Amino acid sequence: MNRTIYLSPPHMSGKEQTYIEEAFRTNWIAPLGPNVDAFERELAGWAGAEGAAALSSGTAALHLALKLLGVGRGDLVFCSTLTFVASANPIRYEGAEPVFIDSEPDTWNMSPQGLETAFVNAALEGRLPKAVIVVHLYGQSAKMDEILQICGRFGVPLIEDAAESLGSSYKGRMSGTMGDFGIYSFNGNKIITTSGGGMLVSDDKAMLEKARFLAQQARDPAPHYQHSEAGYNYRLSNVLAGIGRAQLQVLEQRVEARRAVFERYREALADLPGLAFMPELPETRSNRWLTALTIEEAEAGFSVKMLLDWLADEQIEARPVWKPLHLQPLFEGCRYYAHAREESVSEELFRTGICLPSGSNLTLEEQERVIGRIRSLCALRNRTIRLA
Ligand SMILES: *Cc1c(COP(=O)(O)O)cnc(C)c1O
Repeated sequence: MNRTIYLSPPHMSGKEQTYIEEAFRTNWIAPLGPNVDAFERELAGWAGAEGAAALSSGTAALHLALKLLGVGRGDLVFCSTLTFVASANPIRYEGAEPVFIDSEPDTWNMSPQGLETAFVNAALEGRLPKAVIVVHLYGQSAKMDEILQICGRFGVPLIEDAAESLGSSYKGRMSGTMGDFGIYSFNGNKIITTSGGGMLVSDDKAMLEKARFLAQQARDPAPHYQHSEAGYNYRLSNVLAGIGRAQLQVLEQRVEARRAVFERYREALADLPGLAFMPELPETRSNRWLTALTIEEAEAGFSVKMLLDWLADEQIEARPVWKPLHLQPLFEGCRYYAHAREESVSEELFRTGICLPSGSNLTLEEQERVIGRIRSLCALRNRTIRLA
C-alpha cells in the first residue's frame, strides 16, 4: 500500500523543540513572551519591514489591517477574486462590501486593467474603496508597480495578502512589504508553519502598536481592566512563536526546495500536450508554494476533474485552483470587474487549473510517483481517443 502524498504538509526542521522547551522551562506559556518578540523582530528583519505583529492567524492579520485603515460599515474594499475565502471574509466582519477584481494571464493575480476600470467606475459614482487587498497567489507576486501606481493615483491604501508568498520577491523587495500593510500566514499548509498563526507587517510602527493593542482585548493603560473600544483575542502564543523562529531559519531552504519541485514537474511533463505551468513574471522570484498548471482538455485528452480522480485513486492529494470568490454563493451579488470585456481570466483558470503535491519534504520517489501517474493518464486517454 502506497503512503498518501499530501498537497502541502508541514515540514519541521528539528530545531523547533529547542524553542518550545525554552518556553516551557521559563513558563512562558502565554500569548506574549520572548519568542513572540523575537519572532516579530526576526521576521521583520528577514522581510525588510520596519516591524511586525505576531497574531493567531493570517485572517486575524487581515482583519486588523482593515480595522487600522478605518474600514467600516458600508465601505467598499477591492479584493483579488482568485484566492482563498480568508482574503475577503474580514471585509465582511467589518460590515464592508467586497468588490472583486479579476486576474490577468501573466501572474494569475489582480489585473491592473480590471483594477483601473473598477477605480474609474468608483470615482464616477463618488464612492472610492477604503482599501485594496491584493493576493500573491501560490507565491507568484502580482504586478505591484502597476497596482501601487493605480492605488497611489486614487489615494487608496494597499494591503498585500502574502499568506502564500512568504519568501517570494518582486524586483528585489520581499513580498508583503510593498503595500501599507502585508500579512503572512503560518497555517499548517503554508511554506513555514507554527501549526496556526499569522503576522502583520508594516513600516508604520505606531500602527503595529495599535494592532497589538487591538489583538489583546484593547486594554487601556490602567491597572484595573478598563476598555474604551472593542478588541480581539488575536495574539500568537509564545510556544507557537518558538516553532515560527525555528521555521524562519529554514525558510530560504524551503523556497529552494519548492522551486526545485516545480522545475522537476515542468521538465518531466514538458512533452505532454495541453499543459501550461503557472508563469513567473520577469524580475520576480516565486516561492512556488504550490506547483500550479492548466490543462486544456481538448489537447491533453483529459480534464482537471479526471486527473484529480486519477491521482486520488493512488492516494495522491491534488486540488483545483481556488474557486473565484465572485462565483462563491457567499458573495453572490457582489460586484466583479473582469480583466477585459468578455475575458474573465480567473474563471478560465478555475476551469483549467490544478495544484500538484508541492511540499518541501516531497521525496524524489514520491514526485516520480505523481509524475508517473499523470503520464499514465495521458497515455491511457490518448490511446482511448485514437481508438474511438
Ligand atoms: C492561508 C491563507 C489565508 C489565511 O491564513 P490563516 O492563517 O489560515 O488564517 C489568507 N489568504 C490566503 C491567500 C491564504 O492562502
